[in-house]
Amino acid sequence: MNKTILHDHLDGGLRPSTALELAKQIHYTPLLETDDVSTFFDRSDSSSLDHYLEAFTHTIALMQTGANLERIAYEAAEDMHNNGINMYESRYAPFYSVNETLSPAKVIDSINSGFKKAENDFGIKSGLILCGMRHDFDNVGQVAELAIETKDKIIGFDIAGPELNFMPSLFETSFMKIKEAGINITIHAGEGDGVHSIKDALSNGAQRIGHGVRIIEDINLETGELGDTSKELIDKQIPLEVCITSNIHTNMYKSVEDHPIKNLIDSGFNISLNTDNRLMSNTNVNKEIQIAESLGIANVEQLLVNSTSYSFLD
Ligand SMILES: [Zn+2]
Repeated sequence: MNKTILHDHLDGGLRPSTALELAKQIHYTPLLETDDVSTFFDRSDSSSLDHYLEAFTHTIALMQTGANLERIAYEAAEDMHNNGINMYESRYAPFYSVNETLSPAKVIDSINSGFKKAENDFGIKSGLILCGMRHDFDNVGQVAELAIETKDKIIGFDIAGPELNFMPSLFETSFMKIKEAGINITIHAGEGDGVHSIKDALSNGAQRIGHGVRIIEDINLETGELGDTSKELIDKQIPLEVCITSNIHTNMYKSVEDHPIKNLIDSGFNISLNTDNRLMSNTNVNKEIQIAESLGIANVEQLLVNSTSYSFLD
């Protein structure tokens, strides 16, 4: 039985040892001046979202050549394989790596080449979702165009970045084009923003919701009565890409015990278990399994098996 990860950011999952090695090659001082690279990136006690996001500037600085992208993609897939995963959906905002010598197409080809090598070596199947960054209106449009141009090389389209004040509907035209091109859509919603952002993601063609955990606010937990958006998610069987540790680290919930995943499963949602940013959250698939088990969820591995049927990989 295949086990699948649906939500994991390529720039959030570098191995600390690789980050250090790549930093040495380009004399990237922020990393060279630190005693412990893991601690440098670890944002588990992050006081603000800005502090959490700042860590990505340092991984992206190391993702500026085709060779580095290929290696990072290969190692991400290998790490997933070592955690028992055989289908891996990775996502990345491609223009972060575009520079004078690296075209958008080359960024995608390099990542896919790393995935292909990992498939040959470990049998794990991987695919790339392109992320538009929603706080940059032009970027979303550019990524959507790129997705359409390269649709045979990618598995889906997403928007990432700050949710608040950047509703999916702002990018309605891009989502329409993406849908017309037959590209799969997942949208980050219901994490930084509330239930209305999930509703808005659905009306823009989302086949899955990135996080989506705040749908819990659309349910009367005493009576079990569901609101309209909850009903729509359940009726259409739209999966939620849940990332427990990440939600704690971005201060959505105080502790793991406060996380609604078990309630969401009990309420009938299609729940997948994911890692989001393994480096910044100092996590991996096995750790997320253990956390889910500690919350009293029976047969956690089945969530990973179920994710296979939600996957954009063919
Ligand atoms: Zn994410």
